[in-house]
Amino acid sequence: MCGIVGCVNGSSVLPVLVDGLKRMEYRGYDSAGVALLRADRSTVIKRAGKLVELAAALDESKPTGAAGIGHSRWATHGPPTEVNAHPHVASWAGGSIALVHNGIIENYAELKAGLLTQGRTFLSETDTEVLAHLIAVARSEGKDLLEAVRTVLTQVRGTFALAILDSTEPGRMIGARRGSPLIVGVANDAIYLASDQTAILGHTDQLVFLDDDEIVDCRSGTYTVIDFEASVQRHEVHRSELQLEEIQKSGFPHFLLKEIHAQPEAVRDILRGRLILEDGISHLGGLDTIMPFLPWLDGIDTVACGTSYYAGLVGSYLLERMTELPVHVAFASEFRYRSPVVAKGTLGMVISQSGETADTLAALRELKRRGNHPQEQRRRGGGNPVIGLVNVVGSSIAREVDGGVYLHAGPEISVASTKAFTAQVIAQLLVGLQIGRNRRLPITEGQHIVRALHALPDQIQRILDRSADIEAIADRVAGYDHVMFLGRDALYPVALEGALKLKEVSYIQAEAHAAGEMKHGPIALTGPDLLTIYLCPKNDLYEKARSNLQEVKARGGTLVIVGTEGDTSLREFSDDVVGIPAEAPIWTQPILVNVWLQLLAYYAAVKRGTDVDQPRNLAKSVTVE
Ligand code: GLU
Repeated sequence: MCGIVGCVNGSSVLPVLVDGLKRMEYRGYDSAGVALLRADRSTVIKRAGKLVELAAALDESKPTGAAGIGHSRWATHGPPTEVNAHPHVASWAGGSIALVHNGIIENYAELKAGLLTQGRTFLSETDTEVLAHLIAVARSEGKDLLEAVRTVLTQVRGTFALAILDSTEPGRMIGARRGSPLIVGVANDAIYLASDQTAILGHTDQLVFLDDDEIVDCRSGTYTVIDFEASVQRHEVHRSELQLEEIQKSGFPHFLLKEIHAQPEAVRDILRGRLILEDGISHLGGLDTIMPFLPWLDGIDTVACGTSYYAGLVGSYLLERMTELPVHVAFASEFRYRSPVVAKGTLGMVISQSGETADTLAALRELKRRGNHPQEQRRRGGGNPVIGLVNVVGSSIAREVDGGVYLHAGPEISVASTKAFTAQVIAQLLVGLQIGRNRRLPITEGQHIVRALHALPDQIQRILDRSADIEAIADRVAGYDHVMFLGRDALYPVALEGALKLKEVSYIQAEAHAAGEMKHGPIALTGPDLLTIYLCPKNDLYEKARSNLQEVKARGGTLVIVGTEGDTSLREFSDDVVGIPAEAPIWTQPILVNVWLQLLAYYAAVKRGTDVDQPRNLAKSVTVE
């Protein structure tokens, strides 16, 4: 679930491993380690805690090797100690295996029991270590390294991305994947493995994306991919578009702040070439394959996790208005196990920044299996079509959907998602324009939405230029331990996302409610210890929102309000008022309000002194269940 980097180049691989692990630090991890092989010696060095600990140890011993693997761990089985850190090593009479693993081996307990009866000794509490032992046992039976890995992986249940070394073959490295990303980087004199392309950026831009149940056999400059039946698989080599500056802080103190400030540009990027003002419609090449299906649509089933789920909820309010179709939004982790009823003729929509979220990937497969719209079934003989709103190009979800919209938000390094959320809401507006205009959305309303989207980058910039206003408010917010966010309509999911952002980065306990629900329960919490953040820009529900503000004030509650620029009447309720541009219509209000909440969470976290970019216990792309 965290980071893997590997390299075989025949000379010294250590700098590649250290750089790669540093580049993946943003993903959140708890320990790290490397293994290096050269003909006469192999070295394994691991440390609990941050990478500086490992880097210091490596600086001292300066191991060299022709092949090496590195790992940053996000513990699932066993605490984040040095012993449990990867690589894990297992020996047989002829040599030893070193291995790093992302994911979870679900049947590790039974595999371990079998290995213990064969007299194998385990050092760690991880699920991973069984793999090293199983491969060592297969090697002791005389199997070639590739064959040993292949036969072992056919016995394994769960998810894995692996990089494996064998001390008897110092010029060779094996990789494999199932349900967790692994990329092969190809260069003239070196082959790289990485769970995230940022790890090998600068070494090569030639990438091969492995599919599930594939193994890659790497030697300096050459590689072969086979599947679990041992048939050779051919893959296209893709050119990476990623630039080094995109993964650097570029003068900002944190990636989170850089990414909040990158939003005007990110919005321009997702909109580029995709809006046609004259027709009030969007142009989305990624939907071409499902165009014949759109006129028969009976609904939309959205599935996502975390911030992407809240983006989906915001989208559901907007899409229902644009398309007049029912839109259901579900947590992927619930959807995949609840036996969901997917009606015939609905469009599945999965949302994921990384495109690797394990729960979302599983839900996508479930969605594809179900529904069976007769029209669509005739065309391609499967279940309902599913589209993806995904940021990372070439990711597993992007490859498995029938069509979709790339977010073009650029790499998101901060664990807490900001610019991807904004792009996910916009992607839904683009999809809504496409479906809505082919149904009953009038051209004038379509044009209104297109204009609102064109105006958005400058409006976001106006908010960013006033960051100091929210910084002052955030200083006070940081003094509270309990915060409640309230909003109505599409601003209710924005309240949920605002609360999530605040708790993720500042660790302040935060909850959110639909403002109309407050009087049905949550108002019991109102009092001196609770700060209420109310989302109250001018729209059709403004008067209702003002009544809720009165109710909080009447009970002595303290308020921070996000309203509309120039609405001085809100000062009646609080001194802490910020506003979004008055010209923004309901279609883009959720995005603009959310930018204020992102800044609020950021400055509150800085004030509280938390690890803003890598909040405790969190990881960037959640590729385990
Ligand atoms: N399940 C493995 C462990 O706990 C791998 C964790 C990871 O993906 O980083 O060690």
